[in-house]
Amino acid sequence: MKKISIVIPAHNEENNVALIHQRIKDVFSKLENYRFEIIFVNDGSRDQTQKKLEDLSNHFEEVKFIEFSRNFGHQPAVKAGMDYANGNAVISMDADLQHPPELIPELIEKWEEGFDIVYTIRTYPKQISAFKRKTSTVFYHLLSSISDVNLVKGGGSDFRLMDASVVDVVREMNEADIFLRGLSTWVGFRQAGVPYVAAERASGESSYHLSKMIRFAFTGITAFSVKPLYIAAYLGFIFSVLSVFGYLIYIIHSFMTKTEISGWASLIMTVVFFGGLQLIIMGIIGIYLGKIFKQVKERPNYIIRSKNF
Ligand code: UDP
Ligand code: MG
Repeated sequence: MKKISIVIPAHNEENNVALIHQRIKDVFSKLENYRFEIIFVNDGSRDQTQKKLEDLSNHFEEVKFIEFSRNFGHQPAVKAGMDYANGNAVISMDADLQHPPELIPELIEKWEEGFDIVYTIRTYPKQISAFKRKTSTVFYHLLSSISDVNLVKGGGSDFRLMDASVVDVVREMNEADIFLRGLSTWVGFRQAGVPYVAAERASGESSYHLSKMIRFAFTGITAFSVKPLYIAAYLGFIFSVLSVFGYLIYIIHSFMTKTEISGWASLIMTVVFFGGLQLIIMGIIGIYLGKIFKQVKERPNYIIRSKNF
């Protein structure tokens, strides 16, 4: 019998862990030829998540948990689950039931057809405004044009199935700022997508606020591409050339009219503009430097406080 490992990161999900376990159990009761395990990764929850997980694992042998020593973030949590999963395939999904467990049979079917990675494509329910849909697509298109990895393919969700051979590859990766969404397209293999309609969060609150999303976007871009550094270099080049022309115009003008061009306002604006531009570019370089800094320290992506297996 083939075994499916389901990895679920949970950060303050006390009311959801039992729910999602039940839903997954129901799904697998109809799938006769598969065994399953659920690896919950408690990512530094401050509510009763850990207690709920311990109760659950006492009652059901398929429930396993990994407790982090603090909050390390969603991506390290998924990575931890993958590191300890030993199924023939690993499915990662959110704890809040936005990723419907009922899609699992479809993912497994595609996997059995021979695809190594089955990603999901998020479609929005009718209630969600066209504006939100549009912004989300634009965002991912923008991301993929700046970075070297096609992020649209993953649909920006961490709901996917990976064959054990792919999981082995990902396990060996030792990146400081791991970005699985990009990594899962970057690794290649045979991939297929399955559409699903995202549900509302079952209970609790989303941990992703705008600032976190922006940081996530930066992580995504800088984890897969050095294009922003090139953009910086190109900008520098373009403005250097422009300034040479500016000087030429200034010199010719003062020879012809025997007067100097006045105007400190335009001067200040130019200084401010280039000051800003330089700071942005230094910031971009800084982000990469920070990445190198994190990487050379070789600190682990996560620290485990306890686990039940
Ligand atoms: N999560 C996590 N660590 C965090 C934030 C979130 O493990 O620091 C988990 C959370 O419990 C959920 C999943 O990651 O299972 C997605 O988080 P959330 O629902 O808050 O994000 P959204 O669906 O709004 O993007
Ligand atoms: Mg969610």
